[in-house]
Parts: sequence; structure tokens; C-alpha cells
Amino acid sequence: LFAGETVFVKGVVAMDGLPPADRMEVCFAGRSNVGKSTLINALTGTKALARASNTPGRTQEINYFTAGDTHYLVDLPGYGYANAPLPVVEKWQRLLKQYLGGRQTLRRAFVLIDARHGVKKVDDEILSLLDSAAVAFQVVLTKADKVKEKDREKVLDQVRDALSRHPAAYPEIVVTSSEKGWGIPTLRAII
Ligand code: GDP
Repeated sequence: LFAGETVFVKGVVAMDGLPPADRMEVCFAGRSNVGKSTLINALTGTKALARASNTPGRTQEINYFTAGDTHYLVDLPGYGYANAPLPVVEKWQRLLKQYLGGRQTLRRAFVLIDARHGVKKVDDEILSLLDSAAVAFQVVLTKADKVKEKDREKVLDQVRDALSRHPAAYPEIVVTSSEKGWGIPTLRAII
């Protein structure tokens, strides 16, 4: 899957801008600062993604990347900005709903959750959106190196409890640290 170079394809701001649905895709969602760019970079072994998606103006776009010839990796805009103006939030929610509900080649969503914080209300809303759209999703804990093992278990329990209320959830939670490389091969294998 990651044998080929990961290449930025385009940033999408509306459904009619999506590339042709000619291959499978997986998407990555998470609160801003959850470690999404870092994780995608660790997965693909390139810095291209962070560069593209953190470019001002690109942060509200759905960013498409190819990984080899077989898949798209789709980087969804981070959510939960404290000071995001309402029209921006509403525009984002509309696009997200359309994307999740309308993209036939979307095989799985990875929802990134910070291992220090667990599932917050704003995350839970995304999980409900994924339920409604019938998009199978899997939770990826990020920054696991930042919590002690005991605390990690507590957060895992909280996440499992939240997932039990979401029919579209895969029960398996992938624990990762991009810093330490934990869980990266597992996640790569899942994709
Ligand atoms: P994004 O907004 O979700 O794309 O988040 P970033 O990937 O930019 O990461 C946000 C911050 O968390 C940065 O300062 C990263 O260096 C840090 N970070 C990301 N992943 C990890 C990790 O696995 N461990 C630690 N300790 N820090 C991380």
C-alpha cells in the first residue's frame, strides 16, 4: 500500500471537487491538534501531508492523497476549534455530512482521539454522524507516549464505553504514538 510515494492530489471544498471515485479510500478525522498530520506522516513516511494540510487556507479543505495506485488517504479538516466562527463550522459540517453520506468508495473512517483526553462531546457528535451515514469507523488513540499506562487504561475504558453506544464502531481501538512509532505498523496493516 505505501510502497509508492504518497502524493498530494487536491484540496476539496465542495462535493463536485472530489476526485473520481475510482479506488478505495479511508479518511482520518479528529479534533485540531490531536496529532493527525503527525500520524499520517508517520504512516506514509513522508512530510508532504503535514505541509499540504497545514498550509493556511488548506485547513478547511478535504485533502486527498494517493498511497500507491490503489488507495486514497483522505485528511478531513480538524474540528473543535475553540474560536471558529459559526459560518465556518456550519460550512464544514455540511461538507462533512455530504462527504460521509455520499462517498461510495469510502471504506473506513479513522477517528483520532487524544490518549490524554478520551472522547469529548465534539468527538461524540462526529461518531453519531458516522453512525447516521453508516460509515464504519475505528478509533485511533494518539500520543499514547504522553500518558502513564494506568491512565491509558482508564481512557481506554472511557472510549470503549462511548463506542458501545455507536453501532458503526469497530470494537478494536488502535493505540498509537507517532513519536515512538507505536501502533503504526498495525494501523498500516488495517488500511
Ligand atoms: P493536528 O492538528 O491534528 O494535525 O496535530 P499535529 O500533527 O500538528 O500535532 C499537534 C502537536 O502534537 C504537535 O506539537 C506534535 O508534535 C504533537 N504530537 C503529535 N503526535 C504526537 C505523539 O505521538 N506523541 C507526542 N508526544 N506528541 C505528538
